[in-house]
This record gives sequence, C-alpha cells and structure tokens, in this order.
Amino acid sequence: MSVIYLDNNATTKVDEQVIEVMLPYLSEFYGNPSSMHSFGGQVGKAVKEARAQVAALLGAEDSEIIFTSCGTEGNNTAIKAALAAQPDKRHIITTQVEHAAILNVCKQLEKQGYTVTYLSVDRKGQIDLMELEAALTGNTALVSTMYANNETGVVFPIEQIGLRAKDAGAIFHVDAVQAVGKVPLNLKTSTIDMLTLSGHKLHAPKGVGALYVRRGVRFRPLLIGGHQERGRRAGTENVPGIIGLGKAAELELLHIKEASKREARLRDRLEQGLLSAINNTEVNGDITHRLPNTTSIGFKYIEGEAILLSLNQYGICASSGSACTSGSLEPSHVLRAMGLPYTTLHGSIRFSLSRYTTEAEINRVLEVMPAIVQRLRAISPFNNDQANWLQGREEAFAH
Ligand SMILES: *Cc1c(COP(=O)(O)O)cnc(C)c1O
Repeated sequence: MSVIYLDNNATTKVDEQVIEVMLPYLSEFYGNPSSMHSFGGQVGKAVKEARAQVAALLGAEDSEIIFTSCGTEGNNTAIKAALAAQPDKRHIITTQVEHAAILNVCKQLEKQGYTVTYLSVDRKGQIDLMELEAALTGNTALVSTMYANNETGVVFPIEQIGLRAKDAGAIFHVDAVQAVGKVPLNLKTSTIDMLTLSGHKLHAPKGVGALYVRRGVRFRPLLIGGHQERGRRAGTENVPGIIGLGKAAELELLHIKEASKREARLRDRLEQGLLSAINNTEVNGDITHRLPNTTSIGFKYIEGEAILLSLNQYGICASSGSACTSGSLEPSHVLRAMGLPYTTLHGSIRFSLSRYTTEAEINRVLEVMPAIVQRLRAISPFNNDQANWLQGREEAFAH
C-alpha cells in the first residue's frame, strides 16, 4: 500500500534534486569550509552559494542569514539574543498558540524573572492588535509571534504586529517555519528583525535551518566556540544539510506561485468535500488568512486519535490537533486557546498538503472518510441524544 502523505506541516519529503546536490558533500567534498586549503575552500564556496539561495527566498542579504541545526535552535537563539542585546528590558510578548520551541523557552524565562505576555486568540485563531498595543511597554525587549500556525495554518497580520513592536522599541522575531516557501516574503521591506526557518518543513533534510537577523540588529550567539557563521553560530557547519537547504530554497522560490495555487485548490476540494459529505463538521481557524496547504477540521463527537488510526489503515497520514502527553489525551493548546467546544477540540484532524500531493490522493481521502466517521460516531459515547445535550450545554456555557 502506498502512503498518502498529508502531514507536511510535521515534516516533508526531501526533494530528489536536493538529495542530488547534497551527495557529493557526503562523499567527495568532505573538506572543512573554514580551512585555508582549496580542498576546504571549494566547500566554503558551496556554503556561500547556499546562503545566497536562502537569502533570495527571503528577500534578504546573504550576510543576514545564519545557518542553524533546526527551527527550534533558531527560535531559542532569537529569543536569547534579543534579551541579551537589551539587558535592562525584562518583558516579552508572544502568543498562546506558538510552537513549543517558543512557549517552553518563555516558560523557562519566567522562572528566571522575566515577565511574559501570552496574547490570546479569538475563535478563528487570530490575535487582537489592541491587546498587543496594550501589552507593549518601554520594558518590552521582544515581540515574538509565528507567521503562520502549524496546526490551523492561520496567518497573523505580521507587518501590523511589527509596526507596533517597532513603535515601542522592541525587537520583532517571527517563527516563520510554516510560512517560508508557502507565502512570498520580502524581508527588505518588512518590519521583521529576526526570522526562523527550518529545512525539513520545506523539502530539505532534517537537522538544518536558518535564522535571519536584520543587519544592524544587535545579536549575541547562543552557541559559543569557533568563528563559523561570522562568530554568530559556532560549530563546524552541517555542509550537506546547508547545501540541501540552499537547493530547497531555490526550488521553493521557483515553485511558490504555482504550487501555492495548486495546493490551495486541492485543500479546498478536500475541505469542501468533507464538509458536505459529513455532518457536524467544521473548519477550525480563519479561512481568509490561512496557509494554502493546511486545513484543520473538527469532526464532532469522536476522538481525533481514533480517526488517525483508521486513516492509517488506508496508508493515509494526517495529524490530530491533540498531542498525547504522558498517556493522557491532552487536547491541542492551539485549539484550546481558540475556545473551541470540547467535542470539536477532541475530534480535530489536520491535513497538510505539499507540492507532491495529487488529486487522486485527495479523492481517496474523500472516499474513505465518511465511512470512518460514521463508524466511529456509531460507537461514540457522545452519539445522538447525548450529542444534542452536550451541544446545548456548550452553547449555554460558551466562552
Ligand atoms: C516544526 C516547527 C518548529 C520546529 O522546527 P524544528 O526544525 O523541527 O526544530 C518551530 N515552529 C513551528 C511553527 C514549526 O512548525
């Protein structure tokens, strides 16, 4: 059985062309890019080229790109750098729906005496700019928000956030791991000071990423050691990964327009097909400001995990809004922050497409889903009368 991979926000397939350009750097060209000899020097040149490719995708200068090991490292570095650059400021603003690589860093910083404001989101997963304005003070060192949410695909009003952050004299960092390659970026004309991206979310391999740091923004490295990355990220470069990321960036730039359109069309077909075939189903999040490849759908009165297991039997890979935390079924912090009702919270599934997704794959999902949901609902403790009762209670006690 072939796999139907609709979990591209978790990770993506490495493009064949990316693998091809990487291979020589795993065998023949093993020199250290920092070496004085030309054997290492030619590797250094290839790294330089990859930096230019990543910069081109972002509309940035080559010197503004620092290669990292992953999105998590980029986020950690950005936060710590912003705080180190402004030692007198002790306040951070972020949102309730960030990735753990932001939220858990902020939680740790709270323990160290920093104050963190976690902006709320509305039912559509959008933040309120007035809440941001009210939270900003002269003590705010950093505003860090994601560009697009990994669970719902909801895109934040980035430039509006940035303008307000700038007005207050705060550094503006954006976790754009889900946005890079899916929405066009031009950082030259943006308010973004720092931006995180990750290779494995855009058809490069795992273990490589990049952090954009705008020229002139004061920066302190997280990893201290040798002089790699102009002293901004020590450690001998992951050369094959970097070469792969460069090629992946080039391919994203090449494909972004037509791939986004195509993915959005297939995503909409999937979404509308499921909504019309299955009752008590709704889309989570702001569909007018959303990534082209993502849909999060709540199938009321059943467990998302049960749907995933059933889909798995057909070789279909998707993801549930909930993460299994130490054996207990903990619903997603993102959907919870949106104030979704209990029944939707537990029965939500994310489908995330890529440029490899085919119409036949979408059709297959549309073919199998109605029966899966029907079967699970038939054995659900929340069926029929109970469902109606619960719906009534949810409405009565709506947030
Ligand atoms: C995947 C992801 C990350 C983490 O990136 P890694 O490279 O896996 O560390 C951070 N933020 C968002 C929004 C993501 O989707």
